[in-house]
Amino acid sequence: MIAPKTLKLSIKSLREFAKKRLPDADLIALDERDECPLDIVRHMCSPDKLGIQLLFVPEEYGGFGGGAFDVYCVCEEMARIDLGVATSVLATFLGSDPITVGATPEQKKLWLSRIADEGILFAYGATEPDAGSDLGALQTTADRIEEDGRVAGYRINGSKQWISNGGIADAYTVLANTPNGPSWFIVDRGAPGFSQGKPEDKHGIRLSNTAALSFSDVRVDADRLVGGVEGQGLLQAQAVFGYTRLMVAAFGLGAGWAALDKAIPYSAKRIQAGSPLSEKQGYTHKLIVPNAVRLEAGRAYIEETAERIDAGEGNLNTEGAIAKYMATEAGNSAAEAAIQALGGYGYTHEYLVEKISRDVRITVIYEGTSEIMEMTISRDRWQSHLKTRGRYYHDRATEMEALNARHSDVGAGYAALALHALAEIMEKARTGRLTRHQHILLRLGEWIAYAECAGSLARRAARMADGKLNEKGSQRFDATALAAISRVFGRDAAARVAQEGLRWVTGAGPETAAPDGELAALEAAVNLPAIRRAQTGLLFDMDLVADVLYGRAAKAAAHVA
Ligand SMILES: Cc1cc2nc3c(=O)[nH]c(=O)nc-3n(C[C@H](O)[C@H](O)[C@H](O)COP(=O)(O)OP(=O)(O)OC[C@H]3O[C@@H](n4cnc5c(N)ncnc54)[C@H](O)[C@@H]3O)c2cc1C
Repeated sequence: MIAPKTLKLSIKSLREFAKKRLPDADLIALDERDECPLDIVRHMCSPDKLGIQLLFVPEEYGGFGGGAFDVYCVCEEMARIDLGVATSVLATFLGSDPITVGATPEQKKLWLSRIADEGILFAYGATEPDAGSDLGALQTTADRIEEDGRVAGYRINGSKQWISNGGIADAYTVLANTPNGPSWFIVDRGAPGFSQGKPEDKHGIRLSNTAALSFSDVRVDADRLVGGVEGQGLLQAQAVFGYTRLMVAAFGLGAGWAALDKAIPYSAKRIQAGSPLSEKQGYTHKLIVPNAVRLEAGRAYIEETAERIDAGEGNLNTEGAIAKYMATEAGNSAAEAAIQALGGYGYTHEYLVEKISRDVRITVIYEGTSEIMEMTISRDRWQSHLKTRGRYYHDRATEMEALNARHSDVGAGYAALALHALAEIMEKARTGRLTRHQHILLRLGEWIAYAECAGSLARRAARMADGKLNEKGSQRFDATALAAISRVFGRDAAARVAQEGLRWVTGAGPETAAPDGELAALEAAVNLPAIRRAQTGLLFDMDLVADVLYGRAAKAAAHVA
């Protein structure tokens, strides 16, 4: 782990470098020219310059050995600067992941030291034209080359699609099918038979190079098979999902806040109908406050998951998926709202919010689409529901009730309502065998994410109140503000789970309407009346969050749990 002071210093240098070398005018010009600023990417990765790569390389190979929390902090900052450049810089981290988790000690020493000492750029080549979300459909092959009765190397044939740094990397980790299954190989840029396509003309992250790769009888020596054992590729890819999805979650968070941080000052100055837009509740409570709240819910889940990964709790793939889902969807929504918030100006290149909106769009696609995240989340928690005979979320709700008893203002009571309702909706889905409908399974993924994030945000607000928040994390909001943010989100989560859940378990049930008594029983089971009552005070809390965001003296808190 990196010491908090060192991390803060690195982030400060990063911010200062970006201010000098990537001013807004340059970002707009590079975006228009569809150009990756390779000199800047190399500067950021060079050990004798900014050396961002060093943060992630383990200490024994010459890096600083940053953990998941450090990665989150740096990724958020990078995304605030430019998501294309962030993608280019962090692609090396992604590309070297199969090596970090699966390589032999000799391979690790060679390649991770080269990243640290030489600042070489990596690309991560998994996706293919016909294998995107479903990597099992992989068609690239790696055939053994046998010499003197031993495997001397492999011959790689096939193609890869949408590879970040595809046209500029020095080395590539490439997933290919061996006789024993998918395996990662390290391929040099200049290998005979290996070619890179021209940069893709993309909707966003136009400062990042994305290119197809083509392999025609590319020979690699046997020591380029990551880990030296065939068939470990998908396991190695999975082993870092929790970590890498947190990285993209932080991208969504950083880009979303970058957009809001343009909309907030703009609306404080923009006068329409005689007063600033920031004073118009119909504006702030639609375009600004809900997005800030959702981003902070994503942050709470990212920070909690990062701390758990750093504490050695394992890969936490499902938690990584929840963090990615919430923060990237929130980032998209915030950037989209920021265009609206700036009106006609938002629709032009000059004000940058439309660029951020195009850029952040990728975060709900790469490293697993939002729909794949919903499926991942839902499948895993469905098993937990079954194994515990429906207790899983009731137990989590009980924990929230205990937290509410200690901190009545941090929204834990609302999170408890959301979690209890979720348990009931899942049970109804089980007895009605509703998860045979894929739509229900995926919607469950969404409600799970909301309910779990409500819990996480309430815990974060309580920790803030107790003065126990991780000092590396964001300190943007004080305890009062964070509690109000949590209450707004908790109410949303409870209403969403109950109302949408009831809608879909009814919608997926028999074609003939259930008797009124049965529907009323279901509403009582999810505690719909209490969830409706819990909306009391919502507007007041949103006013409070708006006041904090605009630096106005907030009204006295009048929350009743
Ligand atoms: C700019 C950019 C950079 C990228 N960088 C990299 C990189 O560096 N390395 C790399 O390996 N890949 C990279 N990718 C690829 C990216 O990870 C894939 O695009 C992504 O995983 C989705 O795959 P796909 O594009 O084939 O879409 P598909 O898998 O075809 O999905 C299309 C749509 O169908 C949905 N869908 C798919 N399967 C299901 C299902 N079973 N049920 C319900 N809905 C489903 C998806 O959610 C999506 O909405 C990059 C992509 C882009 C655009």
